Amino acid sequence: MNAEGLRTFGHQAVDWVADYFQSIEDLPVKSQVKPGDIASQLAPTPPEKGEGLDTLIGDVNDIVLPGITHWQHPNFHAYFPGNSSVPSFVAEILTAGLGAQCMVWETSPAAAELEEHVMNWLKQLMALPKDWHGVIQDTASTGTLVALLTAREQMTGFQVNEEGFEGRRLRIYCSSETHSSIDKAVRIAGFGSNNLVKIPVDPEHGMIPAELRAHIEADLAAGYQPCAVVGASGTTGALGFDPLAELAVICKEYGIWFHVDAAYAGSALILEEERHLMKGLEAADSFVFNPHKWLFTNFDCAAYYVRDKEALLRTFEILPEYLKTKTRGTVNDYRDWGIQLGRRFRALKLWFVIRYYGAEGLRAKLRQHIEWTQWVEQQIKLSDEFELLMTRRLNMAVFHVKAAPQDVLTERLLQDINASGKAYLSHTKVAGSYAIRLVLGQTNLTFEHVEKVWKLLGEHLVQLATPSPS
Ligand code: PLP
Repeated sequence: MNAEGLRTFGHQAVDWVADYFQSIEDLPVKSQVKPGDIASQLAPTPPEKGEGLDTLIGDVNDIVLPGITHWQHPNFHAYFPGNSSVPSFVAEILTAGLGAQCMVWETSPAAAELEEHVMNWLKQLMALPKDWHGVIQDTASTGTLVALLTAREQMTGFQVNEEGFEGRRLRIYCSSETHSSIDKAVRIAGFGSNNLVKIPVDPEHGMIPAELRAHIEADLAAGYQPCAVVGASGTTGALGFDPLAELAVICKEYGIWFHVDAAYAGSALILEEERHLMKGLEAADSFVFNPHKWLFTNFDCAAYYVRDKEALLRTFEILPEYLKTKTRGTVNDYRDWGIQLGRRFRALKLWFVIRYYGAEGLRAKLRQHIEWTQWVEQQIKLSDEFELLMTRRLNMAVFHVKAAPQDVLTERLLQDINASGKAYLSHTKVAGSYAIRLVLGQTNLTFEHVEKVWKLLGEHLVQLATPSPS
């Protein structure tokens, strides 16, 4: 297809997305299909002859769309948001058009320099330490894996890369509430799941520093080598925050790598008034957060920072002849900053988002989300039907139904609302109780959507309590 063909279909595709955004609220937020419904409609064999793009777009409408859960729907309140926005979407079109593979500076100097530039902008916006070095990873999972691999190497004098573990017994510490990506990274990095020590949390889901210290002491006495602590800022279940400043002191005292996973809540660092939640972050060795969650930059885009750039590079750098360049050492070759060799040009969408909204615009959006969550918090406190299970932090409320049987009713309420297609919520457990998590972080959220989901909760609860006529 030539450029003229692209013009026709490209316009059609952009129109398709514009129509999609315009009509998204007519669609059920959570896909209502059953397992196999989509697969059963797909051709069993690949086509011998090429098909027209019209046919393909038609199939997206008829087959694919019913099987999509609409993450950009303003009443998507499940998990954490995976936000997109118009500037991000437009940048992704350009990125796809350029099709650049940005493994080293030479393979697209603008991509490398823009990446360094936007990561420095984020440092300014979020008041991160000036001496940190930033790189865009695909996900927070990868960021944490990169952190633990770097910690492993630095703590062993870069020997595991050479010799394997050779009987070394390294320990990683995180709280019992941290994300499963830590468990996965520990497995992949070869530490072994048994060497991930889960430290108990307080009722607000923050790691208990005295417990961390006690476990480190016990491990040292038993001949283990403490390697890294992963602090959580904004746990996935109920948005708990580890006391980073206290954890940092312990890490410094024992010479342990300190990584902070703020995949979701990290975006809140653009708000001065919320920085207290992550006090002590400046002492971390590495840090990851996802602009693809609450900074309107569509998936995937994870911002990873490291204090000791040399340790990072020494962990990952391998230099075959075919990758040697004349500029090496004078520029950032991001292939050396993580796991993959080939890299997408992710900086463009972040650059677009920051420039389009401006710092002021981004701050205003996050503040608005928090304010609306405070409104919900108030409604819950005033209601006879619901009860908060955690202190509200940022833009997430965690609550359950007051009436017995609490767990059963709360779960049925969540499932009924999700089945209605009008909103999508997800759950967690707090101190053993089934809890609804309501996250108000959508790009196009308005107060009307907030009122709508609050009303839905009340209405569906009444329906649950009303015996069906037999
Ligand atoms: N860490 C936390 C606290 C999370 O909530 C999540 C995902 O929700 C992750 C890590 C993993 O993020 P990603 O999907 O970018 O790997």
